[in-house]
Amino acid sequence: MADTEWDTDVVIAGAGPTGLMLACELRLAGVDVTVVEPLAQRSGESRAGGIHSRTLEILDQRGIVDRFLDEGELQPVGHFSGLYLDFDESESRHPYPLMILQSAVERLLEERADELGARVRRACEVTGLVQDATGVTVELRSGGTAAAPLRARYLVGCDGGRSSVRRLAGIGFPGTEATMTALIGDVEVPDLPEDYVWVRRTPAGDYSAIAFEPGWHRVITSEFDRVAGRDEPVTFEQLRESMVRVAGTDFGMRNPRWVSRFSDAARQADRYRAGRVLLAGDAAHIHFPAGGQGLNMGVQDAVNLGWKLGAVVRGDAPDGLLDTYHAERHPVAERVLQNTRAQSALVRPGPQTDALREVFGALMVFDDVNRYLRHLLTALDLRYAVDGDHPLAGRRVPDADLKTPEGIVGVHELLHAARPVLLALDGGAWAARAAQGWADRVDVVEAHSEDGHWPVPALGDVPAPAALLVRPDGHVAWAADADEAADPSALRAALVTWVGPERAR
Ligand SMILES: Cc1cc2nc3c(=O)[nH]c(=O)nc-3n(C[C@H](O)[C@H](O)[C@H](O)COP(=O)(O)OP(=O)(O)OC[C@H]3O[C@@H](n4cnc5c(N)ncnc54)[C@H](O)[C@@H]3O)c2cc1C
Repeated sequence: MADTEWDTDVVIAGAGPTGLMLACELRLAGVDVTVVEPLAQRSGESRAGGIHSRTLEILDQRGIVDRFLDEGELQPVGHFSGLYLDFDESESRHPYPLMILQSAVERLLEERADELGARVRRACEVTGLVQDATGVTVELRSGGTAAAPLRARYLVGCDGGRSSVRRLAGIGFPGTEATMTALIGDVEVPDLPEDYVWVRRTPAGDYSAIAFEPGWHRVITSEFDRVAGRDEPVTFEQLRESMVRVAGTDFGMRNPRWVSRFSDAARQADRYRAGRVLLAGDAAHIHFPAGGQGLNMGVQDAVNLGWKLGAVVRGDAPDGLLDTYHAERHPVAERVLQNTRAQSALVRPGPQTDALREVFGALMVFDDVNRYLRHLLTALDLRYAVDGDHPLAGRRVPDADLKTPEGIVGVHELLHAARPVLLALDGGAWAARAAQGWADRVDVVEAHSEDGHWPVPALGDVPAPAALLVRPDGHVAWAADADEAADPSALRAALVTWVGPERAR
């Protein structure tokens, strides 16, 4: 879309998982995108070890989940602070965590972004920004010297927890300070008595050693009597010494591929938008990585923002649509920050915490408790505040099987193009007629639901609706049941809100 007035429609700062997913979404929305990334090549840092059901669904909605499933390993259980959680097959086509390293996730997303025509400009970082009424001038540095700025309509900071974009936009990052220090390394551990050590608690802290690939383990130690300085260097020797303090031995660990440090500091941007500058992923929220939620949340931020920003840049929807990004995503991260604070409290050493874990562990055998915690980690129960009191309104659309003239398709398959979809099911043909003024921007699918009831996490089964409008991110913007009188006004209002004004046919 960019023309001579603009270098690009959207600049994304950062080619981590969030920035790369956002680049894919913006290309699907038909807008021009340039990602700028200081690292000359992908870091190869393993970092996140897995992705959850909702993220797998999102990748499935875009037709690329098999690439990830082929490289990862399905896990039978998840965990909340090291206590096991079960998964329920009725809640998702992907009812499991997938163990896959962040480096692989980034490689697969970058390949996809490249296929879709996004530009990733490496060895280049954002150093400044100037906003005006029509766009943003993004100042850059490359190879240690100032590079020509980029003029764009919007800038999105996906530049991680220490985000420069957040600072340059004057967005606050309040939260709670670190109370502990964890060290992490991918190393060889020849003297480990078992292949797999799952969170072992000692009076000095805790440790784990997880066999990720043949020949090496991910080792983590947590200590609670000191907080490392933010810019203190991290060394393999520190990790080895920490393991000796916590476990009494270093298990002969050697040949580090990567060492790093994290803590339980939890902070969140007080605004996800400042004019033409937006934040997503770790730039908008940081927290203790327990339960593996950060990368997932970043990808999900990107999928909430991408289609909205695309519609605004194309001129289909008013700029105000972007305000729903903060309104919908800020509470999601708030909930994650809270559950990670609870998880960090549950790992502290001492007899009181031991007792608390025992009580918590006993509670987790109850299905309702297990389900509640599972939903906290996976976000499968997520409901955005959209108008209308239909039970599906605002929730992620279940991946029900539909019979169409082309054969059986799952609802999520209809979202591959990342366009809004209006499903006119049994008794809902009137909805397709009511949406004709949006036919250029909405895919209308007339079909029969193979299932009489659709399973909805946190709600149970609901009768298959007669018609529903699904946003490109897979959330239901409007729905009607077969026994409701045909009333096009609510559907038309939802189309105006989420797609833009009606156009003459
Ligand atoms: C030990 C550990 C385990 C984890 N496990 C999990 C897990 O199992 N599951 C999970 O979901 N999450 C997990 N996480 C969290 C996950 O790693 C992060 O949430 C994720 O990396 C966030 O992605 P992002 O793209 O938002 O930011 P980042 O991955 O931090 O990427 C930001 C990018 O921006 C670039 N950048 C920085 N400054 C600039 C600038 N000025 N201009 C342009 N670009 C810039 C950086 O070079 C970087 O490439 C874990 C984290 C840790 C530390």
